[in-house]
Amino acid sequence: MQSPIPGYLETILDSVRADTSGHVADYIPELADSDPKPLGLAMCTFGGNLYSVGDDGTEFTIQSVSKPFVYALALQRRGWNKVQQTVGTEPSGEAFNELSLDRNTKRPMNPMINAGAIAVNQLINGEDSSVEDRVEEIREFFSALAGRELSINRALCESELETADRNLSIAHMLRNYDVIQDAAHDAVRSYTLQCAIEVDVRDLAIMSATLANGGVQPITGQKILNPDVCRMALAVMASAGMYDAAGRWMTTVGIPAKSGVGGGLIGTLPGQLGIATFSPRLDIQGNSVRGVKIFQKLSKDMGLHLMAAEPQGEYALRNIHTEGQDSVIRLQGKVNFPAAESILDEMVDHDFTGQRLVLDISRVSSFNRMGRRLIKEGLRSLREEGFEVAIYDPEDILKDLQYSDGTEAETLGSLESRSLEEKD
Ligand code: GLU
Repeated sequence: MQSPIPGYLETILDSVRADTSGHVADYIPELADSDPKPLGLAMCTFGGNLYSVGDDGTEFTIQSVSKPFVYALALQRRGWNKVQQTVGTEPSGEAFNELSLDRNTKRPMNPMINAGAIAVNQLINGEDSSVEDRVEEIREFFSALAGRELSINRALCESELETADRNLSIAHMLRNYDVIQDAAHDAVRSYTLQCAIEVDVRDLAIMSATLANGGVQPITGQKILNPDVCRMALAVMASAGMYDAAGRWMTTVGIPAKSGVGGGLIGTLPGQLGIATFSPRLDIQGNSVRGVKIFQKLSKDMGLHLMAAEPQGEYALRNIHTEGQDSVIRLQGKVNFPAAESILDEMVDHDFTGQRLVLDISRVSSFNRMGRRLIKEGLRSLREEGFEVAIYDPEDILKDLQYSDGTEAETLGSLESRSLEEKD
């Protein structure tokens, strides 16, 4: 059986492909020349399943998407007290490169704006670290999160440094208030190298899923961060990750997120998923136009808005057992996206014997739209592989959903089954 999830993700990409609005970032000479066309989407579950479509192997510089991860690294290595002496956790509502500090504390408002990120970068590997050692520490950490060796685009970094006057002024301001000790140009070089680490959407989805998963990299199983560190990083992403569009983002998408001027965008759903998109044209706030649209669609379609939290999908597949000639697949609880995904994942790997399958949904309490759609697509795929598929639904929970694709009503042993015809 083939998972229907990549096909679903393709339709999302197709729905935004034609949008060419926005512009690639032009204040960094190398980025101004970058190809605006690539479009990629990847999703990694807490269970370590990675789905990706479009230009999923195209590398780009991580830019500001690096900020929540370096903040997490600083919290992990230096502890909360040290980090909060350096940077606050209040959304600033300002542009990413605003020259601003908290009026009372003289610290940057949060680690997601450049002032905060330049300050947090200084915390890595101790105040006496050389720029190269500090950046290597960050590169190694990102590589562990992504599960592969990442490299730095040094040409892009040099290009950005040619026009880094604004970040240099921020660094001078930070030095003036003793927030950083390094010379301003070293602080900006170190931060700019952090931004020039190259990733693709698959790396970002896995890195994001590691935050979602309480710091355990879901594919390698490596425990990289503490759960409370992940929670802090996510909280700051939720309130400040989208700069001066953070409030609108939280109301329309409702997923902790971080964007970068390279065109990358991540969203992290605690306990569920890491999602990443790549599309270089940016809106006026510096967020990827098609990336934002993809997230709006995914959030609505998949019911991902954090403020509309649904129970998660663990143990949704009760068991698969054989009754005579038939394989009976028993589901239970609420079937939402994470539930359907884990059910389909087990079904993809299962070696069904015999020709007939019965999906027993008598213990399912509810399906949401996405859960129903994915299970339906999974059954269609099994049918296309030649299985006879029946559904046991004594509570009529799927009554309003009818398939047109040939599920036959039949009685199988003690199980009553019903056929479905497609309606939507
Ligand atoms: N390196 C970029 C800068 O500091 C990152 C900005 C962003 O991605 O939002 O200007």
